[in-house]
Amino acid sequence: MITEVLTPKELHKIDPVFGQVSFDNHEQIVFCNDKDTGLKAIIGIHNTVLGPALGGTRMWKYANEWEALNDVLRLSRGMTYKSAITGLNLGGGKAVIIGDSKIDKTPEMIRKFGEYVNSLSGKYITAEDVGTTTEDMDNIREVTKFVTGVSVEKGGSGNPSPVTAYGVYMGMKAAAKYQFGSEILEGKKILVQGIGHVGETLVDFLTKEGAQVQITDINQGRLEEVSQKYGASIFTGADIYSADVDIYSPCALGATINDETINKLKARVIAGAANNQLANDAIHGQILKGKDILYAPDFLINAGGIINVYAEIVGYDSAEAMRRTENIYNTTLEIFAFAEQNGITTQEAAMRIAQNRIDTRKKENATK
Ligand code: NAD
Repeated sequence: MITEVLTPKELHKIDPVFGQVSFDNHEQIVFCNDKDTGLKAIIGIHNTVLGPALGGTRMWKYANEWEALNDVLRLSRGMTYKSAITGLNLGGGKAVIIGDSKIDKTPEMIRKFGEYVNSLSGKYITAEDVGTTTEDMDNIREVTKFVTGVSVEKGGSGNPSPVTAYGVYMGMKAAAKYQFGSEILEGKKILVQGIGHVGETLVDFLTKEGAQVQITDINQGRLEEVSQKYGASIFTGADIYSADVDIYSPCALGATINDETINKLKARVIAGAANNQLANDAIHGQILKGKDILYAPDFLINAGGIINVYAEIVGYDSAEAMRRTENIYNTTLEIFAFAEQNGITTQEAAMRIAQNRIDTRKKENATK
């Protein structure tokens, strides 16, 4: 028997799901396999206390299945907190499809995935993410109603990125108010890292307000295009992280606040769209606090996209989605104040408030 040859520590390592590092009492994990279309997917449902678990489907060329499982566990948990802090009646879920979206994806595979989503009867609702598109959501819509981010022509809300950018802009203004005493960004030196779907619209808002925007991206063509279109300057310094700016806005990748970069930062505020900006929430959150660099929690200020797709469930009204997104300004200020009162990091404050909302609802549900 296996228990006779392995120590408890070794056994822990081989626990396939419940023993994963990112497993956090997820309610349900669904493994989807279809030989005919080549679909291999995992749906992670972290928590449904506040409502159905909504989160996008990521298609990625994972090195192995462990990596895919770990990603879906981590991402679905993140969605629980994002929806909770934003005040949405949604739980947290996410799905991953294993494969290269440029090579392996077919409409048949995507529709088959939609059938798996449908089999969960609304406990999980999907949306677009890295490697999936509005067109894929339209395909999924053919086999299930439990999908958002469907095209405008098909009655959906379309691309959520401009709304995400508006939320980031609101969060940045709140951070400026708290740190500099005014929400006005005119004249502020702001570095936007990554000028993709979200970053470009953010640059639009910032330049319109008269901020001194510098942009950086690995795509030179886009840099020139966005620079010309909005009058933003292309960052030319040797090191992005030691740039002499007031605000650093990560809108490309996660974990840019890490052991190597954190001590170089001159910015007084960090506010951007990228997910999981802190390489380690506890360690890097605390260092930022110690250095009096105000960090606007990413999962709060980049919630415009989820607010927009949520509106699709409750009856799409773009004005209402924008109003809710605008409210990110107030929520961000509340979190800063809560963090200060309790002597904790802004990331921890946001997590605590989100968890409180879930716990309160759980108690209410139990007494019904
Ligand atoms: P995108 O792919 O459209 O844009 C990302 C941009 O970053 C691209 O222009 C890319 O060239 C650039 N980039 C990549 N690596 C870089 C590097 N090392 N340095 C500088 N630039 C680099 O993505 P997006 O939709 O704009 O999203 C941006 C970030 O915000 C992502 O982290 C995403 O997960 C997060 N986010 C997006 C949404 C949304 O609604 N799109 C919602 C929540 C969170």
